[in-house]
Amino acid sequence: MAEQCIFCGIVAGRIPATVVHSTDDVLVFRDIDPKAPTHLLVIPRRHISAVDALEEGDVEVAGRLFLAAKEAARSTGIAQSGYRLVVNNGADAGQAVDHIHVHVLGGRKLHWPPG
Ligand code: 5GP
Ligand code: ZN
Repeated sequence: MAEQCIFCGIVAGRIPATVVHSTDDVLVFRDIDPKAPTHLLVIPRRHISAVDALEEGDVEVAGRLFLAAKEAARSTGIAQSGYRLVVNNGADAGQAVDHIHVHVLGGRKLHWPPG
């Protein structure tokens, strides 16, 4: 766990969040500043800073992020209409929280390409 990490704080229960899906390895909660009617964040419970920090040993948890995204999209009612997964890595992508997370965006028509 990283002491100063907001998302580790959510995993530890020190920082409140609206959790919509939870497994041994992964947590899904609502983004505090939603960019779509449904905006979820999928994170590993274990601190990994970014896609750029992924290692061979993270292969299983990386796959579990996708499975949890699918489950949470279904349980929040956006699976049928469609949704988008986004992972920002580093400064140019606008990564603001250095704990790897998959955004799940849905509930409206999404534009392509993204800005
Ligand atoms: P990034 O820009 O790093 O890809 O996305 C970080 C996301 O985390 C942003 O969409 C932001 O709104 C969200 N966020 C930041 N702090 C908190 C928080 O304390 N709680 C929740 N639920 N979301 C947060
Ligand atoms: Zn963390």
